[in-house]
Amino acid sequence: MTAAANNRSRAIAPGAWLGLLGGGQLGRMFTMAAQSMGYKVMVLDPGTDSPAGTVADRHLQAEYTDADALAEMAKRCAAATTEFENVPAESLQRLSEGCIVSPAAHSVAIAQDRIREKLFLDEHGFGVAPFAVIRSEADLAAAGIDGLLPGVLKVSRFGYDGKGQVRVGSRGELKAAFQSLQSEPCVLEKFLALDKEVSVVVCRGFDDEVTTFPVSENQHADGILDVSIVPARVPDEIAANARSRAIKLAQELDYRGVLCVEYFVVDDGSLLVNEIAPRPHNSGHYSIDACVTSQFEQQVRVMCSLPLGDTSLLCPAVMLNLLGDLWAQQTPPWDRVLQHRTAKLHLYGKSTPRPGRKMGHVTVLSEQADAALGTALEIKSTLVAARAESPLQPV
Ligand code: ADP
Ligand code: MG
Repeated sequence: MTAAANNRSRAIAPGAWLGLLGGGQLGRMFTMAAQSMGYKVMVLDPGTDSPAGTVADRHLQAEYTDADALAEMAKRCAAATTEFENVPAESLQRLSEGCIVSPAAHSVAIAQDRIREKLFLDEHGFGVAPFAVIRSEADLAAAGIDGLLPGVLKVSRFGYDGKGQVRVGSRGELKAAFQSLQSEPCVLEKFLALDKEVSVVVCRGFDDEVTTFPVSENQHADGILDVSIVPARVPDEIAANARSRAIKLAQELDYRGVLCVEYFVVDDGSLLVNEIAPRPHNSGHYSIDACVTSQFEQQVRVMCSLPLGDTSLLCPAVMLNLLGDLWAQQTPPWDRVLQHRTAKLHLYGKSTPRPGRKMGHVTVLSEQADAALGTALEIKSTLVAARAESPLQPV
């Protein structure tokens, strides 16, 4: 028997329970993919308003470190995974004593700590923006700091969607920014002129099989992903390079699971790795409607040691994020969105819209990425105009 076939013989068949740490939208879409393949899903999430918990077969409402909940998940589930990087690595470690866990605690520990992540990427030869590790005010006085200004100071742990980041132009601003981040360990990065931002979702199985999804071009607004355009409008060599580097990164991290690699494309056309996420990613949501296999189905396949699915793009697509800012006193006019017949609506079941909160997304399919983008922007204008007609009352 070949090594791959041997590994597959321990495949986890549909009907089994799968465990998930985290209850957000990524977990909800994972749960739906797993259930549609015939698995049962147990979600551990302390929240009551839990997008994944409400669709799961079982919602354990407890802290991520709760020993009883982790023991129950490890006992009942054949395999477990996570939907967010800030899950305590010790919880993954504990689960791994009772069931298969993907990704492993050691990979998540690197991705959840910006300092470890940057050092790993740099030491393994993946280009990154020039940076310095800042652990104390003394580090701010180091000789190389001036060369990193203007820069961005990013807190090492628990930052997301542009939170925990401050743009700084001078040493004075840098010191104030460090203090505003409670003098927590940080990374200072040089602020770069970006040509584009792109990302690749890579999946690697226990038998070393690896696949990448088509490259997504990402546009952000206020530090939050706004639209993803697929295929990314970059030269073929850049797209191929982004995919092959993502594979190399997954291999060097000894990663098993779904990993997203975010890149900066800088002026001279070179690619720098911005950050990695040890889970499916917002920029990969298009794969639900536009690819043979979605990133969430791939997450199921990896953890169950099944063959990975084909990631081919069925047609160009644009994903538009729907943030809470778009909600007004009335529900947004979804009927007008769906007048565009190739627009696919995904809402995450969150009851309270808040500015910056990810409430859902729309994926627009078209024969050309630019046409899909045009439709997506039209949808956005419709929603923004409806919002303006009926603003939320201040609470
Ligand atoms: P988050 O964890 O919030 O996604 P990122 O490090 O990816 O944090 O930063 C969010 C966004 O801010 C990036 O997608 C990019 O648009 C911008 N950004 C971050 N770092 C830099 C930089 N060094 N130069 C230019 N833009 C940056
Ligand atoms: Mg990011």
